[in-house]
Amino acid sequence: MSILSIWNKNATLTLIRRSENYLKRSLSSATSHSYQYDLIVIGGGSGGLACAKEAVANGAKVAVLDFVKPTPIGTKWGVGGTCVNVGCIPKKLMHQASILGESIHEAATYGWEIPEQQNVKANWSKLTEAVQNHVKSVNWVTKVDLRDKKVEYINGLGYFKDPHTVVAVMKNKSEKELTAQNIVIAVGGRPRYPDAPGAIEHGITSDDIFSLEKEPGKTLVVGAGYIGLECAGFLKGLGYDATVMVRSIVLRGFDQQMANIVADSMVEKGINFIHKAIVTSVEKQKDGRLLISWKNTETNETGSEIYDTVLFAVGRKGLVEDLKLENAGVTSIADDKIVVNEQEQTNVPHIFAVGDIIKGKPELTPVAIHAGRLLARRMFSGSSQIMDYADVATTVFSPLEYACVGMSEERAIEKYGADNVEVYHGFYKPTEFFIPQKSVRYCYLKAVAERSGDQKVLGLHYIGPVAGEVMQGFGAAIKSGLTMKILLNTVGIHPTTAEEFTRLAITKRSGLDPTPATCCS
Ligand code: FAD
Ligand code: NDP
Repeated sequence: MSILSIWNKNATLTLIRRSENYLKRSLSSATSHSYQYDLIVIGGGSGGLACAKEAVANGAKVAVLDFVKPTPIGTKWGVGGTCVNVGCIPKKLMHQASILGESIHEAATYGWEIPEQQNVKANWSKLTEAVQNHVKSVNWVTKVDLRDKKVEYINGLGYFKDPHTVVAVMKNKSEKELTAQNIVIAVGGRPRYPDAPGAIEHGITSDDIFSLEKEPGKTLVVGAGYIGLECAGFLKGLGYDATVMVRSIVLRGFDQQMANIVADSMVEKGINFIHKAIVTSVEKQKDGRLLISWKNTETNETGSEIYDTVLFAVGRKGLVEDLKLENAGVTSIADDKIVVNEQEQTNVPHIFAVGDIIKGKPELTPVAIHAGRLLARRMFSGSSQIMDYADVATTVFSPLEYACVGMSEERAIEKYGADNVEVYHGFYKPTEFFIPQKSVRYCYLKAVAERSGDQKVLGLHYIGPVAGEVMQGFGAAIKSGLTMKILLNTVGIHPTTAEEFTRLAITKRSGLDPTPATCCS
């Protein structure tokens, strides 16, 4: 049988299955109630769009509502949600721009003749224009894709009128009522502002930075989570003075040894840190610059300094307010997030939630997408597969990147006890750092494992170049039950930094020096 005929047969079978599913659902809804749609998704971001497209692929009739309220300084964007407009994508592009700046200087050490190196400078407006052009092209492709896939896209702000009716408030304030058998809430979140005078009036957030018209200049980044470190990192790399204000610890929830190494590596790059402090006021000066005052959270000592920009990265709040969930009887809400069961179901059985809006799960694009797809399959193709939120790999795109999967050292010790956990670790020297003589002081990795038997790997942590690329495959290995025995019996790819995981010979317990003598020992 030719490949084409197998493909045709499979495609025909899939179509028949989808038609059967659709017919079954149509019959069941016809006997109970008739709704305009099988599914309404409120929120057209990573999770909502993935869910909607998968539902249509399984024969459902679907509408997606998406609406962006402008930021306090008026920034707004198109369809696609946080990731493509004001999140992962513009962030990665700016991170890349900043890394390229460093590479220009490194290139000279490899023999590239670059004239007047000291004058090499990033052009903020050209950069934001290029980033925004890409974002707009993604918005356009998203709209075309939705049209091609027959997902009805409605540019309106959704709220519940009753458990099966959603009202879309359009730009011109007119209202459109829609009914559906099932409803998925995928509204994500927006940045918070601290409770300090002048913060909202004069501050910006990650929602503004990627399209900011004037260059940011000397910037105070408030918050030391993912967004704070990433923004401070690319701003410094682009040539701006950047300071991170840390309220308590850096990268809460992450392995704290690794978090502190990330912070130290940022200090080495010239990024300033103000520790244990919160902003108390932001005042605009006559010259337009900002006088920012703060106080130390332990000593109450105060401080202040003039900055051009203050960027708040103090966490994100879930967008439950506009939804009027009470009209639908949804009560499973906690701290502006929606509490769902393992089926992503709220307390109202036909109303579900996925993505950043759900309580207690990783706020990451691939998580939202995967959960959205699996939910659509459970709703429309008889699947019973639920989302596994454990051991999701992630990367902080700080100047020297940090990626991890699984448990931190402290979490493993808390769960299994220090005597039952073995930590393998080592510093390493990326080959590409040699000629430019880049600092290798912070290139470090560790594996957290059970101590007994074949030593099941509980967590892997890596600081160094292209961390996300390094960690993705190890994420799959951990899902497959990776042990230290397998890891150390894996032949590396030389010369890479990922191979360092296969060479982890030193345990913390041994007390031996984890610094390598040469690159290839
Ligand atoms: P969103 O993508 O936020 O989509 C929700 C959509 O619903 C939005 O368009 C919103 O305007 C709309 N909406 C809200 N309320 C309503 C309503 N009532 N009616 C209609 N529409 C509504 N994740 C990664 O995996 N990797 C990264 O590198 C990464 N970097 C990030 C960088 C930044 C600066 C930020 C802020 C986030 C980053 N994230 C990253 C996180 C990622 O963007 C989110 O996890 C992801 O976008 C969540 O998808 P979602 O579908 O839940 O929500
Ligand atoms: P985080 O929750 O990661 O960090 C918030 C930071 O703000 C913490 O350091 C917190 O300190 C601090 N903070 C909170 N309130 C205040 C305050 N009033 N004053 C000063 N500091 C304060 O949130 P982010 O906004 O950085 O990121 C949100 C989510 O987006 C992340 O959890 C992540 O899932 C996702 N994301 C993913 C990225 C990636 O994959 N690379 C990149 C960016 C975002 P404290 O510890 O004291 O509470």
